[in-house]
Amino acid sequence: MTSARLPSIDRLLRSPACAPLQQRYGREALLATLRDLLDELREPARHGQLAAVELSEAVLAGRAGERLAAHHASRVRRVFNLTGTVLHTNLGRALLPEEAIEAITTAARYPLNLEFDLATGKRGDRDDLITGLIRELTGAEAVTVVNNNAAAVLLALNSLGARKEGIISRGELIEIGGAFRIPDIMARAGVKLVEVGTTNRTHAKDYEAAIGPRSGLLMRVHTSNYSVQGFTASVATRDLADIAHAHGLPLLEDLGSGTLVDLTRWGLPKEPTVQEALKDGADIVTFSGDKLLGGPQAGLILGSKELIGRIKKNPLKRALRVDKLTLAALEAVLNLYRDPDRLAERLTTLRLLSRPQTDIQSQAERLAPLLAAHLGEGWTVSAEAALGMIGSGAQPVARLPSAALCLRPQSNKRLRGRVLRELEERLRSLPIPVLGRIDDDALWLDLRQLDDEPAFLAQLPHLAEGVA
Ligand SMILES: *Cc1c(COP(=O)(O)O)cnc(C)c1O
Repeated sequence: MTSARLPSIDRLLRSPACAPLQQRYGREALLATLRDLLDELREPARHGQLAAVELSEAVLAGRAGERLAAHHASRVRRVFNLTGTVLHTNLGRALLPEEAIEAITTAARYPLNLEFDLATGKRGDRDDLITGLIRELTGAEAVTVVNNNAAAVLLALNSLGARKEGIISRGELIEIGGAFRIPDIMARAGVKLVEVGTTNRTHAKDYEAAIGPRSGLLMRVHTSNYSVQGFTASVATRDLADIAHAHGLPLLEDLGSGTLVDLTRWGLPKEPTVQEALKDGADIVTFSGDKLLGGPQAGLILGSKELIGRIKKNPLKRALRVDKLTLAALEAVLNLYRDPDRLAERLTTLRLLSRPQTDIQSQAERLAPLLAAHLGEGWTVSAEAALGMIGSGAQPVARLPSAALCLRPQSNKRLRGRVLRELEERLRSLPIPVLGRIDDDALWLDLRQLDDEPAFLAQLPHLAEGVA
């Protein structure tokens, strides 16, 4: 083998092969990459282990180009969520409707009246941008918006119950993913937790007995991601509100997902609505923007003018407030609720949640042979009925009848686990990663959320590249 010498960094930098890289990534990044590359090659070059061609300007520029491209690639990547969980917290929850995307773009590009009253020319309040809509849709007097529902609960508790006692049923002391635990949030909010009743049964008299001079509020939390079944009892919001009000205390209700419409209209399981909670007498209602509402990440706090006023005066509100992009998207999403008849067409989340099983099943039947052709030997691909879920704590027990591509390895039972994990990895390393779930010795791609079929089909030829 002919031993070859490393080119100097200056010569490489000035070489025509590197010109487009400098143009694209800048001199500094190119220089750093070339320096690393040459450092790594110095030893092998000295020992004559590299051929001249490996050290040619074109080859070195090519390798530098690959490194720069990988380094500059966005870490935020689009994926296909075919897990069967529609509102998947790890995959970004709700997908925004076009109206909201447009609103975000406009808000990002131009100055706007975020805190400026165009009628009076005076300083305004960012919450006012959606107050009218919230009033119209829910009947609530006032609203304030913060970063997420966890922030909403923290802020409401701290504003209304600090240094006082917060009374809550033992059955509602929940933990939600991401270390959101009601007892911890209460402690951080400065509210002394007073738990009443038992895990499965809590009665009106339990709350009554706990109320005393140090009481600050009553709280009710949607148990979201678990369900207590069997010998259970809880106090309805209406009765709980009566108890609270008889003692001059406010009732806080954390609805978790919260929705503004009766989902049974679209054949979905019943979730308590924001309007019902308010009508039943909850003084403060909190819920997420990016769960069933179908909007951006946010926490909405609704209630009376007086209580919301106290919440807004809390200095924490300033620390937890939302930005202009969120408000723009939220307004656009809320706007769609003005026309419930067309909501399922226009609100992406609801459209996906209400897709009929037969529709998904025929899509699966159509795609199964195409996927089989690209997957090659060793796999059986079939269109199967499957059960998905809403996700994000809404109706944890309810299942959404769906359909999936079921990818089953033909290898013997001992190898199946490994083969499935390898396929999972191949799907994850596609240009647009495809995420499914392994269950019952097969990999399932639930198609409820497969909207962009052309983009999915464009991934399939890349599947073969990864085959060992
Ligand atoms: C999801 C949820 C939260 C947290 O909401 P985020 O918007 O994720 O912060 C709080 N409480 C309940 C009951 C929930 O289901």
